[in-house]
Amino acid sequence: MKWSQAYIPTLRDDPAEAELISHKLLMRAGYIRKVTAGVYNYLPLMQRVLQKITNIVREEMDRSGALEITMPVLHPAEVWQASGRWDVIGREQMRLQDRHNRWLCLGATHEEIVTDLIKGELQSYRQLPKNLYQIQVKFRDEIRPRFGLMRGREFIMKDAYTFDRDEKSQEKSYQNMVDAYFRAFERCGFEIRKVEGDTGAMGGTGAHEFMVIVDTDGGESTIYYCDSCDYAATDEKAGFREHGETSDEEMLEREEVHTPGMKTIEEVTGYLKLPAKKLVKTLLYRADDEVVAALIRGDRNINEVKLVNYLGCNNLEMADEQTVMKLTGADVGFAGPYELKDVRLVVDHEVKGLRNFVTGANKTDYHFLNVNHPRDFKFHETVDLKMAEAGERCPRCENGKLKSDRGIEVGNTFKLGTKYSSSLGANFIDEDGNEKPFIMGSYGIGITRTAQAAVERFNDKDGIIWPKAIAPYGIIIIYTNSSDDKQIELAERLYMELRGKGIEVLLDDRDERAGVKFKDADLIGIPLKVVVGERGMKEGIVEVKIRNTGEAHKVNITEAVEGIIRIFEKVD
Ligand SMILES: [Zn+2]
Repeated sequence: MKWSQAYIPTLRDDPAEAELISHKLLMRAGYIRKVTAGVYNYLPLMQRVLQKITNIVREEMDRSGALEITMPVLHPAEVWQASGRWDVIGREQMRLQDRHNRWLCLGATHEEIVTDLIKGELQSYRQLPKNLYQIQVKFRDEIRPRFGLMRGREFIMKDAYTFDRDEKSQEKSYQNMVDAYFRAFERCGFEIRKVEGDTGAMGGTGAHEFMVIVDTDGGESTIYYCDSCDYAATDEKAGFREHGETSDEEMLEREEVHTPGMKTIEEVTGYLKLPAKKLVKTLLYRADDEVVAALIRGDRNINEVKLVNYLGCNNLEMADEQTVMKLTGADVGFAGPYELKDVRLVVDHEVKGLRNFVTGANKTDYHFLNVNHPRDFKFHETVDLKMAEAGERCPRCENGKLKSDRGIEVGNTFKLGTKYSSSLGANFIDEDGNEKPFIMGSYGIGITRTAQAAVERFNDKDGIIWPKAIAPYGIIIIYTNSSDDKQIELAERLYMELRGKGIEVLLDDRDERAGVKFKDADLIGIPLKVVVGERGMKEGIVEVKIRNTGEAHKVNITEAVEGIIRIFEKVD
């Protein structure tokens, strides 16, 4: 492609609304343009990148034995109601009504549609296992779409669904997909980390997320991993080995203390000169129609996903000021378990072993010292509600310690069990003649997300550094003086000959200063730059520069094509 005929609208400045480096670069380098919140045009360079990622993913899916299909974007409400998810997913689902006032939605995932498809068509164990996949646009009505393609409302995904007769076969299908994911991401140029994830609204019995580790703000997820075994999990999922300490202090008299205006842990513990772990937070939530108080040590952060999973609720939000006032008789910040009525207490394990701790007094501007259970309050439900922390002990092995990293989720895998096959009545006949529901799995790769994750992972101050496998073009040729016919002639010849060898080449034939061309080449991130310049012409050489290492070579004009290809083959 010649730049003069291409459509690469590079920008000089960062767009105001972009926070992440990858979002800024994709805008500035002319890859994407915003249409409305969370919805983008993919321009020609982006289209090429997406095509390459798609091809790699498709090849690895096909190699794994999965079969490609295309399911609709538009789904009838009925199948989602049948699975029970119409109410669970709620506002994240894009919904619309047709001219007959029938409800439809735009798919964010296709478990319902694919289960409905095979229902009655796959009938015998002999037809199993089956793996059906598609690569298609998806929709999710994010509360706050941002970060470019990272948290968009419309995006492209590969989603696959497996159907197996039993757990053993399902385990094989699952591992088969995990292997395909490692191959696909490695081919895209990524190192990927597989971590245990929460099953969330998918339901089911187990899940993994595939993360690109980054050290930028783009690392939206924290993951914890063990420094001595292979335990790794998302922050939503991660646990750690609890210390199980039980205090043997004498129970002291409960005492009310005046703590005017002190609502935060820091304020209260600073004022009382106590460590945060001597305080117990009482967090009031509305969980569907119920009010729940979660009790957790003052130095810990609550993991709301663990609370949701324990309660089995669809919606969890902090109770509003009015509810807190009604239940505790106090402003927010002074809640405690003592004489707290009409509220279900859910208590973190660590609180069990504490003695003489501090809680809110259910009275504005007051706390209690020396609160103890079961003397001052009773509870029946203890559960792990804690966020993991680096430095805590590994939950799996004996001596390991947890470490943390930041990552971008680019893929996920779920063991769904029979959740969808049972609710939608999708059964097969097994060897013994019995009718059984399919054991299912579901597997996603974010194609658009992977593209942006690559930019977040691979960039420098000058722009994007694409891994060769997913770069829009492999080589860019620049001539520095557009009024020098000899330069143009040589550049055009190299362009034709390299293309003839099957290499994707961009020729910067614009009537621009050399500096502008160099800047743009770095910005759009082409792996190899070939420069036909004044000095080189005199010396009979072209300069070749590798984008990701900065390594420069001189190649004789007489054997330029072979020399360039030799260097290009070594580029990652
Ligand atoms: Zn470990």
